[in-house]
Amino acid sequence: MTTRPAAISVRGLEKRFGERTVLNGIDLDIHAGDVACIIGPSGSGKSTLLRSIAFLDPYDAGEVNVFGRMMGWRETPLGRERAGAKELADVRRPLGMVFQHFHLWPHMNVLDNVTLALRLVHRVPRAEAEETGHAALAKVGLAAFADRRPESLSGGQKQRVAIARALTVKPKVMLFDEPTSALDPELVGEVLSVMRALAAEGMTMLIVTHEMGFAAHAANRVVFMDGGRIVEEGSPQTLFAAPKSERLSQFLQTWR
Ligand code: ADP
Ligand code: MG
Repeated sequence: MTTRPAAISVRGLEKRFGERTVLNGIDLDIHAGDVACIIGPSGSGKSTLLRSIAFLDPYDAGEVNVFGRMMGWRETPLGRERAGAKELADVRRPLGMVFQHFHLWPHMNVLDNVTLALRLVHRVPRAEAEETGHAALAKVGLAAFADRRPESLSGGQKQRVAIARALTVKPKVMLFDEPTSALDPELVGEVLSVMRALAAEGMTMLIVTHEMGFAAHAANRVVFMDGGRIVEEGSPQTLFAAPKSERLSQFLQTWR
């Protein structure tokens, strides 16, 4: 029997902000090829979970493993200590991240935005970085936009640039935190179709979203969070058609 480590494995994860426990014992496995949507009310801890997985928010207890390597901490005979910057970057490398806000540099054109991390962090020579950047832009349908400034793009186009930027470093898992929530309704579709195309290519994805239609059709798993816990998870068919908990039933009613 071969046991490949999960792409992401979360065990007993806890996160506090001061006195407040925001994640209260999260267990979650994301396997290669999964497209998992996290749904749940505002304040339930969805963003904190994603940020803790990537160690943008250092978690307090439990653990996150990415392809079998612990994120952010290392075990020593004397207990746990924070991983060094290089080790953290190494464990984080398979993760690509896309947020609600695009965080593009206004003074750089689209291609420079997309290739910045490759060139500065990964030290890829300009010509090679640009080749990768053009390919990533083509993938999100923005091949013709390389020379444009972000300000001349629509919100949907900006978010597609942010997705292209994340793709340049060849992530094995893409984390999305409400990628369409800041967009005008008519721009949501183009971003969701880029995400659907990624899913169809087999990209492993963990997506916080309020787009229930997307979750129902593109995800193979849906995870419902409330109050810092996972309350229910399962296939979209079972979760949407036959919620077990009162909390999920109520949550779904507000989105119908
Ligand atoms: P969601 O993404 O589901 O809306 P969040 O993960 O953003 O929820 O937040 C969960 C809870 O943690 C909320 O009550 C929020 O106010 C709190 N929280 C989030 N980030 C911080 C922070 N940096 N400092 C203090 N409290 C925070
Ligand atoms: Mg959030």
